[in-house]
Amino acid sequence: MELLEREIYKHYIEIIQGHSESRASRHSESCASCHSESRRDEESSAIQSQCFEDRHPQRVSFADLIDRYDAFCFDGYGTLYNRGDFVYPGAREMFAALRKAGKQLRLITNAASDVDCVLARDAAKRGFDFSEEETVSSGSLLKDLVADLRSGVSRNGPALRLREVYYIGRETGKNVLADCGITAVSPDAYPEEPVVAISSAKDTPETYARAVEILRRPGAILLVLNSDAWAPKIDGSREPVSGALSERLRRDSMCEANGGKGCSTFYLGKPFPAIWEKVRVSLPSSLFGGRPPRVIMIGDTLGTDVLGARVAGFDSALLVGRNQPASELAEDEAFLGIQPDYYIG
Ligand SMILES: [Mg+2]
Repeated sequence: MELLEREIYKHYIEIIQGHSESRASRHSESCASCHSESRRDEESSAIQSQCFEDRHPQRVSFADLIDRYDAFCFDGYGTLYNRGDFVYPGAREMFAALRKAGKQLRLITNAASDVDCVLARDAAKRGFDFSEEETVSSGSLLKDLVADLRSGVSRNGPALRLREVYYIGRETGKNVLADCGITAVSPDAYPEEPVVAISSAKDTPETYARAVEILRRPGAILLVLNSDAWAPKIDGSREPVSGALSERLRRDSMCEANGGKGCSTFYLGKPFPAIWEKVRVSLPSSLFGGRPPRVIMIGDTLGTDVLGARVAGFDSALLVGRNQPASELAEDEAFLGIQPDYYIG
């Protein structure tokens, strides 16, 4: 794992600890304004010891897991598929076996590249027939956050109109914004309020500079629509994505105007709690004969899928060697204090 990548996921752990401590908001905000460094260290140690407690990950094949769980939550990119129509070997067969066995299946994705019905349709085209109801995306959480920001409950500042943002991401991601009544201003314009939204790392030197300029304004807000820091490419290499760009912007926007604390940052998706609330609601005990389901999250990323599963109270399986280099696994786990229940691959 890259150094910045590790630092980002460590920062997420600190935010989650702050969230569970305060329970003041359903969404996670950068804790620069609410926690001292020493407090952060204590909280970080707490989640680390909790995550390592009694964890002795077993190396398994997917078939070993089928009878152990009632519900299977899948990450999308890097786990089932990748760009275009690329599907990982064995993924379709695994999915079909679970459907045949009558298991509950969910797609839990940090994609904010379009609305859920389109993401579900795209997954179906690749051979994974998730319904819209079985799809929970990072972008779908924006509506609730926007409602909170418009009502003023999500931060100490005044309520926002939030009709416009400065946006860096895919063109289709504007559908996620439009679904919330938000327009992305053109790349050479400024939004009426200092709000920047990021859903991919498709920045240019010009858009990056403008985003920093906006985020240095008093009361500025950074909306991280996809919290993934790094992602695997089809050729096996890895690249920085939305979470990495957002972290660079967050750091570069630190300035005196905001009391040296930088912009307020709101993160959507895994590993943060809000997405898991939505997943849990979609898996009521009534679907499982009145008993709580045994749920597992299967993904390729330690800092989102595995950490997120721990936040949700689900078991987890990590696909090693895609977004998590096998040779760095032990070191990364020790740094973040996170281990899955199983390794696959
Ligand atoms: Mg992934």
